[in-house]
Amino acid sequence: MHYVFSKYTEGLRSSAVRDILKLTQGRSIISFAGGLPAEDFFPLEAVQEAFERVFRQGKGALQYGLTEGYTPLREAICRRMAAKAIEVRPDHMLITTGSQQAIDLLTRVFLSPGDTVLVENPTYLAALQIFQASGVQVVGVEADGDGMLPDDLLAKLERHAAKLVYVTPTFANPTGKVWSRERRLALLEACKPRNVLILEDDPYGDIRFDPEGDYPPIFSLDRHPDDCGVVYTSTFSKTVVPALRTGWVIGDSRVIQMMTRAKQAADLHSSTLDQQALHQLLTHFDLDAHIRIIRAEYERRMQRMKALLSEARFADLRWREPAGGMFFWVELPEAIDATALLQHAVQQGVAFVPGRDFYAEQPRANTLRLNFTHTPPELVGVGMDRLAAALEAYAQEAIG
Ligand code: PMP
Repeated sequence: MHYVFSKYTEGLRSSAVRDILKLTQGRSIISFAGGLPAEDFFPLEAVQEAFERVFRQGKGALQYGLTEGYTPLREAICRRMAAKAIEVRPDHMLITTGSQQAIDLLTRVFLSPGDTVLVENPTYLAALQIFQASGVQVVGVEADGDGMLPDDLLAKLERHAAKLVYVTPTFANPTGKVWSRERRLALLEACKPRNVLILEDDPYGDIRFDPEGDYPPIFSLDRHPDDCGVVYTSTFSKTVVPALRTGWVIGDSRVIQMMTRAKQAADLHSSTLDQQALHQLLTHFDLDAHIRIIRAEYERRMQRMKALLSEARFADLRWREPAGGMFFWVELPEAIDATALLQHAVQQGVAFVPGRDFYAEQPRANTLRLNFTHTPPELVGVGMDRLAAALEAYAQEAIG
């Protein structure tokens, strides 16, 4: 059989990194690679109890459900959103199979091949994969520590007649960066009058270490849920568990209706069982107290990795302390290629993600992402020793 795959698959690039990381499976590798939450803090009993409550209610949760999502869950999420100054009704909201699906559905209904989306450079790898597979032109906007630079944003909005700007303004993946309020407003003020939609991806907003931080969702700054320039998506993957694959997307009801049609075509609806369990969990479990616990623990883990990165042996590396989220973004000396370094790292028994694939354009090979949430604190030191050994082996090879 000769398989001729669709044009869509031409944009689905396989990555060298995935191949290297496959080598880590089944070996005792300390992985700073995945964007994984800490299993030790999964609320196992609460999730179990939530499912038991659902099953005790009978067979309803085993039936097909609404494409829009389980209404009591949508109502509960609306109440949670109100606490972030996002005032929306359930008809502004669609439950998705993770926020990943929200990015995919919005791409399907809003972007055609040849359209341009502007992104931070670097940005979330799996969003780039969606855009690229859809034949969309992806253009990176220059940024500093506070977010996209307004001048470059304006120039690129005009030059490319962009339709969408995709951003993760609060503790980005991979950079850990958080945008200032001014830059959030500047983005909104640049996009809305030009009829350019903003996709605000916010999986990490609750994982913040600075309770005083002024990080309003861009959606909350728009204040026009019925003529809305922002589509906002978030998820329970980082605050409850990723396995429930439950996220949500909110926006103007015209956009949500179109995305609902696309979702119907994609998977009819997200798991009824998982949605009902989440609703039970939100009703009977103090999720905010749980979020406070994981914030404190993740901050502790971040501080531990920061202390190690600050040691003299890593003096050549450049990084910023993240104010939340799950990642350190590290710049190596210019001459070091992080993908080649990963080969050495895997030999030494440690893994990370080289930065190259996070770039929409002009990739910087001397960058890498370290996850600080997943590895138990007692193993982080061993992992960082191995990273130092990998840097040493790389230097030896370069000399030899
Ligand atoms: N957006 C970003 C920036 C992410 O880092 C992730 C998870 N890696 C997602 C979206 C998707 O998360 P999920 O589908 O689990 O909600």
